[in-house]
Amino acid sequence: MEKLEQLYEGKAKKIFRTSDPYILVIEYKDDAAAFHGEKKGTILGKGIINNKMSNYTMSLLEKNGVPTHLIRELNDRETAVKKVEIVPLEVIVRNVSAGNFARRLGVEEGKKLPCPTLEFLYKDDALGDPMVNSYHAVAIGAATFEEIDQITKYAFLINDVMSKYFKDIGILLVDFKVEFGRYRGQLLLADEISPDTCRLWDINTNERLDKDRFRRDLGNETEACQEVFRRLGIR
Ligand code: ADP
Ligand code: UDP
Repeated sequence: MEKLEQLYEGKAKKIFRTSDPYILVIEYKDDAAAFHGEKKGTILGKGIINNKMSNYTMSLLEKNGVPTHLIRELNDRETAVKKVEIVPLEVIVRNVSAGNFARRLGVEEGKKLPCPTLEFLYKDDALGDPMVNSYHAVAIGAATFEEIDQITKYAFLINDVMSKYFKDIGILLVDFKVEFGRYRGQLLLADEISPDTCRLWDINTNERLDKDRFRRDLGNETEACQEVFRRLGIR
């Protein structure tokens, strides 16, 4: 798979064109950003961990009925994926109160929610990724109601598969963000699933094993990511 010119550089990844118009190469960087890019840093080896964990998780999800953009891991930092038209929604599933949910709704961080919840953010940097409901999403042309239904089903299925998987390795899946895209008439899970996009807590100690270590200056970000990696048994 030949990597041609760079099409885009985001906060965490670079995207390259290939000779096949339907295939992109994603390169994962060590750059870390939080609070809409206001806090920046570098976490040594993060790109490798995110690439491998994302591919590992997507393969697991494929086996459990969630179609994904994953084609093939090319090397430690690069993966070939199907080029999708991104649905401009960040789809967030929560099992336990944390982060923005805890702050906005005054629910103590760490409280288990009675059932998983779902929220959508409209991906627009200039607007600061505002939260929208399904009617807003349709009204602004981000998705159709049919797509929202499909996204909702996939989001909860992803939550079921990942929650069980992480529980078995002593990790509580607190919440996560996913993105979907359109590919030849099909909706696919795209972007990444990694410690950057999930809140992962040790089941026994509640130790943060995710990007909150960076967001909250807890230190040892690399070690925390490596611990997840080690427990997943990824090489
Ligand atoms: P950001 O754009 O938020 O800074 P990244 O650094 O992660 O984030 O950039 C990756 C970009 O690539 C995101 O905008 C994401 O929506 C997009 N993307 C992810 N997977 C695919 C795909 N399979 N096809 C096309 N675009 C994708
Ligand atoms: N998240 C993400 N990208 C975003 C916003 C959120 O990956 O732009 C993830 C985040 O890592 C967490 C979940 O979505 O796992 C919920 O984040 P929250 O809404 O609580 O926002 P935060 O407090 O992280 O700003």
